[in-house]
Formats: sequence, C-alpha cells, structure tokens
Amino acid sequence: MKVFIFASALSLVGSCATKRYSEKIQDIKDNIVFENSQQIKEISKTIDSSELKKLVYDLSSSEFQGRKTGELGYHKASNYIKDYYINEAISSPLGENNYYQQIPESFFSDDIKSSQNVISYIKGTEYPDEVIIISAHLDHEGVKEDQIYYGADDNASGTAALMEIAQAFKIAQKKGFGPKRSIAFLHLTGEEIGLKGSTYYTDHPVFSLKNTVANLNIDMIGRVDEKHIENPEYIYVIGDDRLSTELHYISEIANDTFTNLELDYELNKESDINRYYYRSDHYNFALKGVPVIFYFNGEHEDYHKPTDTPDKINYPLLQKRTQLIFTTAWYLANSKNRIVADKK
Ligand SMILES: [Zn+2]
Repeated sequence: MKVFIFASALSLVGSCATKRYSEKIQDIKDNIVFENSQQIKEISKTIDSSELKKLVYDLSSSEFQGRKTGELGYHKASNYIKDYYINEAISSPLGENNYYQQIPESFFSDDIKSSQNVISYIKGTEYPDEVIIISAHLDHEGVKEDQIYYGADDNASGTAALMEIAQAFKIAQKKGFGPKRSIAFLHLTGEEIGLKGSTYYTDHPVFSLKNTVANLNIDMIGRVDEKHIENPEYIYVIGDDRLSTELHYISEIANDTFTNLELDYELNKESDINRYYYRSDHYNFALKGVPVIFYFNGEHEDYHKPTDTPDKINYPLLQKRTQLIFTTAWYLANSKNRIVADKK
C-alpha cells in the first residue's frame, strides 16, 4: 500500500491527483507547530556532551565486561541504570523500585541465562494512558577470547542518550512542563542475539500496544561513517515514513527548528541491501503497527570489534543527535492530537 501511494503520486506529476496529494502533505506540515519552542530549546540544553561522555565511559568500562545478555556485566550495567533513575527520581511503571522486566532463561536459546529489560517512565498529565517509548539496547557482545567488546558506540551511545533524554523530561516536569502523554525509557536486553528483549517486550507489553503512540529507537549514534567524514553533522533516519506520513514531517520540523543536522534517508530505502530497517529493536514495534524511527550513524571500522571504545565517540555530535530525538519525542508527547498511523 505505501509503495502504491508514492508510486501514484510520482507518476501523476502535474495532475489533480498530485495536487490533492501535495495539499494533503502541506496540511500535515502546517499543523505541526512547536509551542513553547524557546522553553524546549532551554531544556534541550541540559542534554550536555560532558554528561553524555561520563555515561558512555561508565557504560563501556571494563567493569561491565561488554554487557553480554545474562552475564554479570549486563546485570551490573542494569543496576547502574536503575540507580540512575532512582537518583533522578524517575519512577518505574512496574512499581516502586522495580525497574526490571524479567525475561526467563527459557525464552532464550542456547547458553543464554535469564536477563531483563530496564524500564522507567514519566507519567503524562493529560493522556497518561498514551505512551511514547524511547528505546536503546543495553546488551553487547561480552568477552570473547579474553577480549572485552566494549560497545561504546554499540550501544553505550544510545543508552547514554536515553538517560539524558529522561533527565531532560524530568527537568521539564519540575519546571511545570511535564509531558501530556506518558514517556517510557526502555533499555532492551538480547538485541545482539536476535532482538530478544524487544520481542519479549512486544509480546508482554507494559503499556498496551494500542496506546503506544510511537517508538523512537536509538542504536549507535556516537560515530561518523566513511560517507560523512567531510560533513559529520548528520544522522541516518530509518523507518520514519513507513507507517505514519505525519511522523516523517514531525522529525523534519523538529530538526529544522532545533538541530539542523543532515537527515540522511539513504538507509531507509526499500532497496537498501543492508536491510537496517529490519535489524534493530524498533522493528518489533513496527510489526505491531506502532510508528517508529530508528536513529543510526552507520557502520564504521570498529563495528562489532573490541576496538569500539569511548575515546572514539564524537561527544558534541552525540549531544546534537540526542537533542534531535528529545525534541521529536517532545512533540509526540505534547501534540494536540495523537499521530496517526495512516500507512498500515
Ligand atoms: Zn546495536
């Protein structure tokens, strides 16, 4: 269906049908207005490269042993995140101090032990039952042949971004700008072994999927790939137009208003041979009809190698990308009407 809509729009250039289509798009764009944009800008400044750097260094330290699903290092990293949320007074939807969605060993295959997703949230003021889920996988490859796979970009970068975004929304709430819809911060396990944590979550959702407005998934946003070495102020945006026309324009307008990154859609093409759209946790949400955006910096020479270390992250760029995701989530959480998934 989605392909048909675009194909017909393209093939009818100059016709009435095209005009109606472009008018519809213009209407969608005209309706996307950031109220309190000065306030949003101020709050997004609390997302800070030095705080992100501290988090990425901690998360990818040898203490956490490459955060392999089910292993001690992963449990320690989960505990680190839980303590962070307790410290920031960001609560859990699972009950007091219970930040873990436990996943039994039987759910995993081979030698993988039981593990957990880590979740916190901020309750919406007007539509608390509707939720925006921002996610990042916490697990990585662990230790192989005595080498720690630190996973600084994959995915300490996304994990740190998620923690800073949560903190920014909490600061907003304290200033009287709490989100109208609820926002959940979901740290997923088992991504590297087949999107297990998100499969479990979408099979056992904490918030009903029907009331899940969108999923913004962050997986590797701290580095620059070969294509962009000359112009590093970019991010690949994947999946944003697949289920909701509106979501694509919200993302673009958030970027135009606050961050001015190059949004690169090359990896969103159906023809992309790497099929990234199908390869990280957002895809399990998309399968259930939830509109998604996947934020990704592309692959690089240290991808899935022990050399993916925190000294190689571009922290000012990580800050800017995190601010883009924050402002996009802000709109989704505060817009008058919930976004529509019109392309199912
Ligand atoms: Zn990853």
